[in-house]
Amino acid sequence: MSNENFKKLYIDELKDLYSAENQLVKALPKMAKAASSEELREGYEAHLEQTKGQVQRLETIFQSLNESPKGKKCVAMEGLVKEGSEVMEEDFENAVLDAALIGAAQRVEHYEIAAYGTVHAFAEVLGETEHASLLEKTLQEEKQTDEKLTKLAKQINAQANEAASPQGGEQDVVKPGRRAPKRAA
Ligand code: FE
Ligand code: FE
Ligand code: FE
Repeated sequence: MSNENFKKLYIDELKDLYSAENQLVKALPKMAKAASSEELREGYEAHLEQTKGQVQRLETIFQSLNESPKGKKCVAMEGLVKEGSEVMEEDFENAVLDAALIGAAQRVEHYEIAAYGTVHAFAEVLGETEHASLLEKTLQEEKQTDEKLTKLAKQINAQANEAASPQGGEQDVVKPGRRAPKRAA
C-alpha cells in the first residue's frame, strides 16, 4: 500500500509538467521565428512537434489516473520563457541572438530533464510501469534536444564571436543557411 501523499506529490509534479509543456507549445514558435540560423529554427520547429506529443503522453497518464491535468502553473517555466523573451528584446544581431536563444532553450531542456527524471523515478516506485515508459520516452527526447543544441551552439557561438569582432564588419554578411538580418529589410 503506497503512501497517499506520495501519490499526490507524483500527480502534482505531473501537473506542473503539463503546465510547463503547454507554455512551451506557445513559446517555441516565437523562438523559432526569432532564430536566424535555419538549422536552429528547424530544430525549434521539430521540438515543437515533439512537445505536442509530450503533452499527449501526459494526457494519457492523467486519463489512466482518472485525474485532471489542469490546476497547476509551472512558475519555473514561466520564468524561463520570460528570460527567453528578454533576450529576443535585446538588440542582438543574428548569430549573437541565436547564441542567446540556444542558451535560453538549454535552460528549458535542463529543467525538463530534471522534472521528467523525477516523475519517472516516482512512477517506478509507484509501480506505474506504463507511465514510466511514457515518461522515459519524453525524457530521452529532452536529452536528445539538449545534445543537439550543444552541437549547434559550437558552430553558432563561433559565428557570434566573429560577428562581434570590432574590425570584422561582418555583421551584415549573410552566411549560408542564415537568413538576412532583419534590420537590412
Ligand atoms: Fe518537453
Ligand atoms: Fe515547475
Ligand atoms: Fe523540451
